[in-house]
Amino acid sequence: MNVSITGGRHGHSVRSLASAGFVVTRPSGADAIIIGAGVVGCAIAHHLAEAGMKPLVLERRGIAQAATSRAAGLLTRARLQPCLAVLVRQTYEDLRTLEAEGGEDLGVRRTGSLYVGTSEPALRANRELMAQAAAQGEKVLRLSPPEALERAGWLHLEGGEELYFMPEDAFIDGYALASAYARSARRKGARILEDHAVLEILVDRQRVGGVRTAKGLLASPVVVDAAGAWANLLAWPAGAAIPMAPVRSHYWITAPDRRFRPDMPFLILPDARAYARPEGEGLLFGFREAQSVHADPRELPADLRGHEVAGDPGGWASMEEGAPAFQRFLPGFAELAVAHYISGYSTYVPDGMLAVGPLAAAAGLFSAAGCSGGGVATAGGVGRALAQMITGSRLDFDLKPFDPARFGAFDPFSAEWGRRCAGARSHKTSG
Ligand SMILES: Cc1cc2nc3c(=O)[nH]c(=O)nc-3n(C[C@H](O)[C@H](O)[C@H](O)COP(=O)(O)OP(=O)(O)OC[C@H]3O[C@@H](n4cnc5c(N)ncnc54)[C@H](O)[C@@H]3O)c2cc1C
Repeated sequence: MNVSITGGRHGHSVRSLASAGFVVTRPSGADAIIIGAGVVGCAIAHHLAEAGMKPLVLERRGIAQAATSRAAGLLTRARLQPCLAVLVRQTYEDLRTLEAEGGEDLGVRRTGSLYVGTSEPALRANRELMAQAAAQGEKVLRLSPPEALERAGWLHLEGGEELYFMPEDAFIDGYALASAYARSARRKGARILEDHAVLEILVDRQRVGGVRTAKGLLASPVVVDAAGAWANLLAWPAGAAIPMAPVRSHYWITAPDRRFRPDMPFLILPDARAYARPEGEGLLFGFREAQSVHADPRELPADLRGHEVAGDPGGWASMEEGAPAFQRFLPGFAELAVAHYISGYSTYVPDGMLAVGPLAAAAGLFSAAGCSGGGVATAGGVGRALAQMITGSRLDFDLKPFDPARFGAFDPFSAEWGRRCAGARSHKTSG
C-alpha cells in the first residue's frame, strides 16, 4: 500500500500511522539523530559519542562540503560576550584532544592575531574587545610599530595606530577540523551516513519522533537540526523557526607575493571592515560590506558550486566598496594579482549571536544553526554544550543568550527577516 507520510503540525504522525497498522519507522539504533555533517554537526557527534551516546549523523552530500569547507577558519578568541568566548576556548581544547587522540597534525596555524586601529571608533572597538579578552584570561600584548612590522611586514603604518597582538590565536582549515571531529566521533561509536538527505523532521504531539529520509523513516527521541543555511527548511514544517538567515560571506586570495609570509599573524582591521591572513605565499582578505547580501534558503541549491549570488555574483561591488580603506594599510593593493574568489553562506542571527538550544515546537528537537559567521571557531563549544543538554548533564555553558525563542514570532523566509540577519554581518567589526 502506498502511504504518503508527512510530519509536524500539518500531517500524519509516526505514532498515528503506526497505530493504524503500518510499519512506518525503522529503529535507527541511535539515541540522537543529527542532520548535517558540517563542522557543527560533526562536533556535536564527537561530544555526544564522548558522553557515551550513539549519535547518527545524516548528511545529504559529503562531510563538510558546504559552509565549513569555504571558511577562512579564523579561531578568534577575543569576543565581547563571555558566553561566546567560552565556546571558542572549547574548540581550542578539542583541537588538543583531537590531535593527541588521533596522533595527527591538523594543520592548526598558530600565528597569533594582530588588531590595528586608527580612527576613533576603531580604537574604541579594539580597546573594548582587548579589555574583554584580557578580563577573560586571554593573553593580549600591546605592540610598538616596529614590533608589529616584524610580524606583518606588509602592513603600512603612518603613526597613531594602536596595535594589539593575541599570541595564542590561530586559524585552521574548516574541512580539516570537521573531518577530525567526524573521525573521532566514529572511533567512539557514532555513525555518519553521507548521501542521506533528510526530507522531514517527524513530530507527534509536540514530541520529536525521528526523521524521514529518501531511504525511509528513522526513529529517534532526539533530533538536532544542524543543516546550516538549509536548517529552516526542515524546522519550519515541524512547527519551529530558527532565528537566522543565510548571509553571503566571501574573501579573495592573492597570487603568491614576496610581501606575504606564511607565518604572519591574521589581521583584524576595523577601520577597513576587513580581515586578512596568510594563505600559502599569498594573502587572503575579506571585507564586510555596509549592506550584506542575504538569500532565501528555499532558493539555495544543495550543491552551492556554481551558484550565483543575486546582484553581486563575483563580489565586485563589495571589493570596490572595501578597497579604498584597505589600501590605507596595503598601498599598491589595486595592483595585487587576485587569484581566487571564495564565497558561501554563513547563517547570521540579528543580534550576531547563535541559535542553539531546544526548539519549543517539539520536545527532543534542538537547533544548532545560526553561527553568525563564526561556526568553525565556536563548533567545539556548541558541540559540548548540546551534548551536555541532551544527556541532561550539568551545563558548563551559558546557553540563554542563544535561545532560539528570543525573537518571538517571525517568518524566517521573509525579505524583512533576511535584511535583519544581514545587518548582523554588516555591523561586525571583529573576527
Ligand atoms: C566565506 C566564508 C568565510 C568564513 N570564515 C569563517 C571564519 O574565519 N571563522 C569561522 O569560525 N567561521 C567562518 N565562516 C562560517 C563557518 O563556515 C560556518 O559558521 C560553519 O561552517 C557552519 O557550519 P555548519 O555545520 O553549521 O554548516 P555547514 O558547513 O553548511 O553544514 C551544514 C550541512 O548540512 C547539510 N544538510 C543541509 N540540509 C540537509 C538535509 N536536508 N539533510 C541532510 N543534510 C543536510 C549540508 O549538506 C551541509 O553539509 C565562514 C563562512 C564563509 C562562507
